[in-house]
Amino acid sequence: MTLMKSWVESANSADCPFPLNNLPYGVFVTNSLEARCGVAIGDMILDLSTAEEEGLVQLAEDPVFDVPYWNDVMELGPEAWAMLRARLIELLEDGAPEQAAVAPYLVAMTDARMEMPFVVAEFTDFYSGKHHAVNIGTMFRGAQDALPSNWLHVPIGYNGRASTVVVSGTDIARPNGQTLTTGADAPAFGPSARLDFELEMGAIVGCASELGQPVTVAQADEMIFGYVLLNDWSARDIQAWEYQPLGPFQAKAFATSISPWIVTRAALEPFRTATPEREKELLPYLHEPKPMLYDIELSVLMRTKDATDTTICHTNYSEMYFSAPQQLAHHTSSGCAMTPGDLLGSGTISGPKKDQRGSLIELSWDGKEPITLEGGATRSFVEDGDTLTLLGVAKGDGFQIGFGACTATIQPAVKFP
Ligand code: CA
Repeated sequence: MTLMKSWVESANSADCPFPLNNLPYGVFVTNSLEARCGVAIGDMILDLSTAEEEGLVQLAEDPVFDVPYWNDVMELGPEAWAMLRARLIELLEDGAPEQAAVAPYLVAMTDARMEMPFVVAEFTDFYSGKHHAVNIGTMFRGAQDALPSNWLHVPIGYNGRASTVVVSGTDIARPNGQTLTTGADAPAFGPSARLDFELEMGAIVGCASELGQPVTVAQADEMIFGYVLLNDWSARDIQAWEYQPLGPFQAKAFATSISPWIVTRAALEPFRTATPEREKELLPYLHEPKPMLYDIELSVLMRTKDATDTTICHTNYSEMYFSAPQQLAHHTSSGCAMTPGDLLGSGTISGPKKDQRGSLIELSWDGKEPITLEGGATRSFVEDGDTLTLLGVAKGDGFQIGFGACTATIQPAVKFP
């Protein structure tokens, strides 16, 4: 597939993250406009609420774009999603007869602030990156038992917190919690000393599934509304003390950052790629009828208070062992019901090489090999004032599909009474 040309000139350059091929969905606010749904095109946002008011876009009898979330559109289902995308292409493509009617509703991105693009119904975080799981397992159990015996059979996950999923740009306070220092006989309470990021993709479930009713991998794929970048902030020291026997709890509950633009499945279609070869035959309910991953280049930038960004990781979403549709099929296999707005974290996406590791605990090998940043600072974990930025891009022939940055700065822990 090649670049689809738009009359919005800035959308036609080969390095623009938001060409007509992309059309990602977000929620924005300006000094004069209340928070509402918009679609990115070049360096502009089309105000869909006003476009809907003016009769240029109509998906349902009642307005769906005048609210600060995309859940109402999700609930209309995949046919409506396809209709919306087709209509937006019609309105924004080069030579569109409606150009003069649509142009007044374009807002410069520089005049807008992005908010959470949807109401997160529930958040489930998986652990489906094999390189990450092997690295963590090697650190804590040795290379021999690196992968738990269930790992190649089950997309392992835990139920996280929807309440603390925040949009890119939101500052994160270092969490307080219980930790046990090596050699101590009792835990202490205070700011986490081993704060980490995790590079993940988030899949947004757009369709409900019924209680008691499993869905197939193919159906699960159809249920996914789109994808975002996701940073699953993790307090390694809190996690080490609390995780047995029920898994992570407070170590992951304080914050999860996502990028502001929902990149649709339709936009990613040309970049489909298969999961790696299976090392153990999967049970039939997890079989994939077609490629279910995407070729998306991912990178992580780290910046201290006074230095420039350093790229500390470069990897690809295609490194996942289980795809989001497999995770979703597994999630419903027990009869667990899914809701529009459910968010599934992929699990940390590391590649096989050292500079492809998607977390600091891997990059610094549990703090034993600190990394060096531009300007000379070294880091084993995240310090106060540090900024982490996740980036993602799928590269086509003369165009690219960008995700927009997922960035956050760490603030000091709140003083605990
Ligand atoms: Ca995670």
